[in-house]
Amino acid sequence: MRTLPALTKPASILSFDFDGTLHDPASSPPVPPEFFELIQRIRETHQASWGINTGRSMVHMIEGFLESRFPFLPDWVVAREREIYIPNKFGRWVAHAPWNKQCEKEILRLFKRAKKLLARIRHDIEEHTGAQWIDMEGEPAGIISRTVEEMEWIVSRIAPLAGEEPHLSWQRNSIYLRFGHRDFHKGSSLSEVARLHQLTAANCFAIGDSHNDLNMLDAAHAGMIACPANSVSEIHAKVSASGGLVTQGIQAHGAIEALKHYFPG
Ligand SMILES: [Mg+2]
Repeated sequence: MRTLPALTKPASILSFDFDGTLHDPASSPPVPPEFFELIQRIRETHQASWGINTGRSMVHMIEGFLESRFPFLPDWVVAREREIYIPNKFGRWVAHAPWNKQCEKEILRLFKRAKKLLARIRHDIEEHTGAQWIDMEGEPAGIISRTVEEMEWIVSRIAPLAGEEPHLSWQRNSIYLRFGHRDFHKGSSLSEVARLHQLTAANCFAIGDSHNDLNMLDAAHAGMIACPANSVSEIHAKVSASGGLVTQGIQAHGAIEALKHYFPG
């Protein structure tokens, strides 16, 4: 897959959640060509570096690029809500090692410290729900519930339990939950991408539809925020309360609307 010519000096950073924000599995193609035409234009006219900020793993994201027939790669990806990757000129994804290594180190240290607490949470969830606990290489602690309602219940249950370890947090998206470190999420990862280009939150645009987007839809990390009409209610509420744009359109049609709003002309 091809990359676009490198930007000489990025002036803004555009951060897009993927599933439910750009990607609609019911549409063909899942991301409309109009989105790519617009992003290519804004990238040139505004020197905007654009990226996908997702809960997907990098491997799963690459599948998404192929399935959605991306005509060119984004300038960066945040995978699993916290790992930063940048394509080289051959389109190969290279880890932003200082950040990713620090993130991995902090999470391993935290999980070691919170081992008993996580075991207690696991026991509680397995006793009271039909949810599945995930514990595997690269994904040391996560939950897949049977329904969104069950996940609501799980979150209300673990919130008081997790309180005893202030660094422990989680990212939630529909029936999926991933435990992690409170300092590494879509928001802080977006700020790290901005920092690489000597830019700040004021130069950042972010759009997302689900709970794991809450951190990046925040003035601390993005001065221009939006959510598509199909977003969960907590996202709607936060974006509205922060003076962001809740679009009329759903998914990528919302993303297109938001881009035209913040980058007119
Ligand atoms: Mg989403």
